[in-house]
Amino acid sequence: MNLAADLANHRPETVDELADRCRAAGLVPESPATGDDLDRTRTALDAWERLVDADGDDERADLLTQMLAEAAAYPRPTFHDGTGWHLLYRYAEQPLGSVLFTLFTVGTTPHLAGRGMHRLRRCEVPECNTAFADTSPTGRRRYCSQRCDNRDAVR
Ligand SMILES: [Zn+2]
Repeated sequence: MNLAADLANHRPETVDELADRCRAAGLVPESPATGDDLDRTRTALDAWERLVDADGDDERADLLTQMLAEAAAYPRPTFHDGTGWHLLYRYAEQPLGSVLFTLFTVGTTPHLAGRGMHRLRRCEVPECNTAFADTSPTGRRRYCSQRCDNRDAVR
């Protein structure tokens, strides 16, 4: 979910940038990223931003349901020698763009379903407009950062 917000707020412009930022987030591509991955990532980010901009909880829940249905890889329990059972969120050999779509979807689902459908929005400073997941105790965070909070308080 943090990677989705990070990539949505500052979209990667090249394949190399996409690969670097995924690696920095701990996601190691199984094969080199391609232009197709960049296109798929943009599509996945568009879908995620529609979720952010959904008009109310019901619409957001519907969009999330559609994304879950589209995310080809559902979580599967997988056994590894030494470490035991894991939930695996992807199939092997999936292109990076598809892996990202799945990650954005299954990463955002527990947050919204567990903590509240309203906890995904944009910063209220108009020229900022940054998308963020609200993980505050009250669920009423209005700004993406302390900096924007201060900026609005000064006005
Ligand atoms: Zn902001």
